[in-house]
Amino acid sequence: MIWDELETGFAQLATAGLLRRRRTLDAPCSPEAEVDGRRLIAFCSNDYLGLANHPALIAAVQEAAERWGVGSGASHVVSGHLRPHAELEERLAAFVGRERALYFTTGYMANLAIAPALLERRDAIFADRLNHASLIDAAQLARAEHIRYPHGDLDWLTDRLARSRARRKLILTDAVFSMDGDLAPLPELFELAERFDAWLVVDDAHGFGVLGPQGRGSLAHFQLPASPRLILMGTLGKAAGVSGAFVAGDRRVIEWLMQRGRSYIFTTASSPVIAAALLTSLELIAAGDDRRAHLQKLITQLQEGLEELSWQLLPSPTAIQPLVIGDNPTTLALAERLFARSLWVPAIRPPTVPTGTARLRISLSAAHTTDQVDALLTVLRSGIDLDAQTFPANP
Ligand SMILES: *Cc1c(COP(=O)(O)O)cnc(C)c1O
Repeated sequence: MIWDELETGFAQLATAGLLRRRRTLDAPCSPEAEVDGRRLIAFCSNDYLGLANHPALIAAVQEAAERWGVGSGASHVVSGHLRPHAELEERLAAFVGRERALYFTTGYMANLAIAPALLERRDAIFADRLNHASLIDAAQLARAEHIRYPHGDLDWLTDRLARSRARRKLILTDAVFSMDGDLAPLPELFELAERFDAWLVVDDAHGFGVLGPQGRGSLAHFQLPASPRLILMGTLGKAAGVSGAFVAGDRRVIEWLMQRGRSYIFTTASSPVIAAALLTSLELIAAGDDRRAHLQKLITQLQEGLEELSWQLLPSPTAIQPLVIGDNPTTLALAERLFARSLWVPAIRPPTVPTGTARLRISLSAAHTTDQVDALLTVLRSGIDLDAQTFPANP
């Protein structure tokens, strides 16, 4: 019985074109991937600045392993909080210009800590419909009412905030939407947070390191003030090239997360070598204007190169450039055909994106060359009719 249901589930996923499959890489994260003995140009990773495999980070990890060992041995609140973790938190807070920062093992866990720690039953969360899954899960874990507003619809949101009788209110949004690449209207959301006495939690997974002066992120990009009601979450596995995340803001909010954030307390602190790598990564991010300028150049190159295509790129100013195809089978077939041409672009399907908007999520990195982007443009422009003769099967 239990097995029958799983089998039916697999069959349904397969029919809907939703079965996920992993590919094993035989080379480090970079635009030149190696899979099953084949060399591919990859447009998949969130390593926007090309730091994941940077020699300075590798050296930092080697040194830190000698000095600090590998494991942290316990939760941060027991005995797992080592000097590199503490230093990292100080440097992160200074970098984003907030009173204090708390370092988490992953962005998923950071998001799971915030809303459930700050809210109770009589409270309400106002969340953009296109928020990342971790924010949706966090809202479900919090006992508060969960109100999802249509993507970026400020009128709708204003109306609901005005009518809400909730005791505490929290607005929850991605800064850069992870599957669309567009920016949330953060200045307007902040204004609403002030007007309705709410917290504004901004998930800057895709803005940190990329946007704003020195890559300080989306809040800096919009020049928002370091208001106590603004809570910033940033992840460190994307542009920062390592792993982990932080929450930064008012020192009382951060202290409360340390006291009450279950996904902070009930987990082993990540390795001190990760924190050491991140300290180096922060320096490279701050000094990374050349990388950001190159990334910007690639974004323009891709957008201009695809202007004539029948499929539309979503209007995204960021490294996330989604080409919306529509149905799952066509999107998958397209991704497979690109793969056969040694171009690796992930197909993103529901439930990650709304039904009928399956897409190729092209992500660019400062590590790409203009030639690599040209290679992708050439194949996409050469008329991808989904005819097997145009695109020979995997050689
Ligand atoms: C990737 C991502 C996360 C999760 O961060 P991890 O460090 O990968 O767990 C959270 N929010 C958004 C918007 C993301 O894109």
